Amino acid sequence: MSFRPAERLNTLPAYLFVEIDRKKRAARAAGKDIIDFGLGDPDSPTYTYIRNRLHHAVDDPANDRYPPGGGAPELRRALAAFFRQRYSVELDPEREILVLIGSKEGLGHLPLAVVNPGQTVLVPDPAYPVYRSAAIFAGGVPRTMRLTEAGGWLPDLDAIPEDTARSATLMYLNYPNNPTAAVAPLGFYEKAVELARRYDLLIAQDAAYNEVYFEHPPPSILQVPGARDVAVEFHSLSKTFNMTGWRLGFAAGNADAIAALARVKDNLDSGPYTAIQEAGIEAYAGIDRPEVTRIRATYHQRAEVLCHGLQELGFRVRPPAATFYVWARVPKAYDSMRLATKLLDEVSVVCVPGVGFGPAGEGYVRFALTLDIDRIRQALARLREVKW
Ligand SMILES: *Cc1c(COP(=O)(O)O)cnc(C)c1O
Repeated sequence: MSFRPAERLNTLPAYLFVEIDRKKRAARAAGKDIIDFGLGDPDSPTYTYIRNRLHHAVDDPANDRYPPGGGAPELRRALAAFFRQRYSVELDPEREILVLIGSKEGLGHLPLAVVNPGQTVLVPDPAYPVYRSAAIFAGGVPRTMRLTEAGGWLPDLDAIPEDTARSATLMYLNYPNNPTAAVAPLGFYEKAVELARRYDLLIAQDAAYNEVYFEHPPPSILQVPGARDVAVEFHSLSKTFNMTGWRLGFAAGNADAIAALARVKDNLDSGPYTAIQEAGIEAYAGIDRPEVTRIRATYHQRAEVLCHGLQELGFRVRPPAATFYVWARVPKAYDSMRLATKLLDEVSVVCVPGVGFGPAGEGYVRFALTLDIDRIRQALARLREVKW
């Protein structure tokens, strides 16, 4: 028998960075100094106050057992306390909060819990690729909501055709947004909730960057009255606390959706290591500690320097209010893949072509601010050498 992967893998979105990845590896192997703005992975270590709690928790043999279903009760209470403090939203820790092995896990499993084969899943374009893949894995049919710069990178909810809205069971949203860095005002969430009520669909709002903000904390969709009837929000410790490798996140909101997702998870995984969940309690207890405040200021400063430098070079770019991304319009004569390839070939600077996030990302490139300020300045100096 010759092994062949399942056909559904062929229906996933194509991975467009093969060529850039290959060139990056080749350049590295040739000893070139690559300045890599490609990775949405914090460059700073997890804060010591969190790591110390893990050290302690690892020594407790009680944590060696399977973790409690749905997540450690103390962590769920801590997350409810965070929601109360940050958003003035009161959540039932047992019914309205579910601990995840990173938010990607929950975003990815959700359609298995709430979408029937053939049903429509509304997915933004450009977007984090997980939403579309997850819809496909569950046999759902992704339908695109096109985001545009003119529309503030928010979907035009009024433009969704009536029959599409009617056939949809799930809508993914992501604010603050990867890759565009757009932030949604509460008024947008109000409209989305109203639409979800009218057409009886569930909203999955990916809030992975809600705590990576520069002035005011962006809103939670759960602040909209009645939102918990139609919405679940996904939060992550990865970006806020530099914990991408730890795999810890949570879902909050609609109790039926939470219960359905928990059933999928009961059948596939048993949740994150309890010691890591214990460290998660410590993380949120320190959400406004100086370490966290400082990293927000650091990303803000990096964003200002990079945006200013790119503007001087003639890129059209708006300084972000949240996330650690800069989303820049590419100079006219180029498409995003050609521009990214040119920067890599000529000056060993890596950015991500917008088209990799969907066709509507064409014309833009994404820079991740996960490099220190000196490297950013060095990259700008190199970009000034490029012949356009
Ligand atoms: C990084 C990121 C996540 C976080 O994933 P985790 O699984 O929690 O590490 C989720 N959504 C978006 C848009 C992201 O960029």
